[in-house]
Amino acid sequence: MKTIYSCSKCGTQFSKWAGKCLDCGAWGTLEKETFIEDERKNKTENLKNYI
Ligand SMILES: [Zn+2]
Repeated sequence: MKTIYSCSKCGTQFSKWAGKCLDCGAWGTLEKETFIEDERKNKTENLKNYI
């Protein structure tokens, strides 16, 4: 399970919450989202192998 914060205005996703969207500069638009995605696990494993 992964928690991300996405801007409801521009759709940019962040791993940490912020009062202001760092991309479009809008305030209070970041909304918490939780999801499970198996593909991300594979990507993380690939990254570990690469490093
Ligand atoms: Zn934004």
